[in-house]
Amino acid sequence: MTAPTRRTVIVAGAGPVGLLTALALARRDVPVLVLEAEPGLTVDLRAGSFHPPSLEMMAPLGVTDEMLKTAIRVPRWQIRDKREGVIVEWDLSVLADVTPYPYRLHLEQHRLTPILYRFLRAIPHAEVRFDHRVTGLTQTADTVTVTVDTPGGEAQVEAAWLVGADGGRSTVRGSLGTEFEGFTWPERFVVLSTTRDFAPHGDTENAYMADPSEWAAIFKMPGDGPPGLWRAVFPVPPEEDEAVTLSAEMVERRLQNLLPNAAPYPVTANGIYKVHQRVAREFRVGRVLLAGDAAHINNPLGAFGLNGGIHDAISLAEKLARVCRGDADPSLLDRYVRQRRTVNLEYVQEFSIRNLRRLSARDPEERQRNFEGLRRAAATPEAAREFLLVSSMIASVRRAEAIA
Ligand SMILES: Cc1cc2nc3c(=O)[nH]c(=O)nc-3n(C[C@H](O)[C@H](O)[C@H](O)COP(=O)(O)OP(=O)(O)OC[C@H]3O[C@@H](n4cnc5c(N)ncnc54)[C@H](O)[C@@H]3O)c2cc1C
Repeated sequence: MTAPTRRTVIVAGAGPVGLLTALALARRDVPVLVLEAEPGLTVDLRAGSFHPPSLEMMAPLGVTDEMLKTAIRVPRWQIRDKREGVIVEWDLSVLADVTPYPYRLHLEQHRLTPILYRFLRAIPHAEVRFDHRVTGLTQTADTVTVTVDTPGGEAQVEAAWLVGADGGRSTVRGSLGTEFEGFTWPERFVVLSTTRDFAPHGDTENAYMADPSEWAAIFKMPGDGPPGLWRAVFPVPPEEDEAVTLSAEMVERRLQNLLPNAAPYPVTANGIYKVHQRVAREFRVGRVLLAGDAAHINNPLGAFGLNGGIHDAISLAEKLARVCRGDADPSLLDRYVRQRRTVNLEYVQEFSIRNLRRLSARDPEERQRNFEGLRRAAATPEAAREFLLVSSMIASVRRAEAIA
């Protein structure tokens, strides 16, 4: 790519949301420059479960077909209780009349980013610069200037627009001074990956296990290929030291507590995460827009975080491309804000909080009420459909489309 011009859109962050935003813009002939702080694409144990609307949105870019080559299709998923066993088992194939992808698709987030990066690199007017950390910004009515820490020292890059997709601790959001409103959960989450197969014990490839002291979320992931890996997420009490959480003894104890096994668990990876529920007060300030975790974060129960970021990326790129080409007034970008901020509050925040409270409820009566409500919903076709439309994010995408 030639030097950035006043037509270029800068994207801060080469995570999944930044790369997807850049790809969707570049495929619409908008010159893009992605600035990433790290020396390469990052590898972590976070997202891995993709909902039908995300697959529909990425399909026209060719991304979904690439994911399908190695990802695991998960049409059925369970809500279980540690003592009572399966409370409900949902079957997404009942949504085959409203989506071509009636399943959850499991693929590690760090296997999606190389697909996006490869596609982006093939476009002459797109560039990704690693080791380029955005440190600040200024803007006028016509341009935005980004300050960047580069291997050669501090540099300034001018462009038409800036998309902050630089994650939960976003420097772009910080530079705008916008509030990140919400709260942080007292417990952290630990994620453990094992080669031990959970399927013979009756777990579907995605299952949520309710328990007042140690609930768990279970996902089967492709790993390096068949037979794949099983990933379990557990709460970590606030007082527990991180070194204890990640010690071999505690890792083994948590997995044995979830599913007792005669042999020790072979564990391939672990990670510990602070968990928040926060939404930026503004998603747009002049020529700067926020997307993905930079704009909103939530606990991972329900797998709404990255999926919501994908919906941001596609919505924003479609509108910003029209503005960049002169086909629409910049006020169109305020519709992106209205749509995406509203559904994040109404769906992502609301239901991720509800999911965590349901899984971790301590009061026996409340637990029984929750389970009865779920069983009733699963037993009634209309209620089951409603539950699946919300939990697969189809309802939130429909709601966003209805916002003018
Ligand atoms: C345990 C766990 C499990 C999860 N599971 C799911 C799931 O199954 N499904 C789901 O939808 N979501 C899930 N999530 C949430 C999901 O991981 C995030 O929503 C997702 O990573 C957000 O992507 P992003 O691109 O916005 O941000 P990130 O993935 O955080 O990427 C941000 C990028 O910006 C870069 N960066 C940061 N600062 C700068 C800077 N100043 N300059 C330049 N670059 C910068 C970073 O290095 C990084 O590459 C989970 C989260 C956790 C914690």
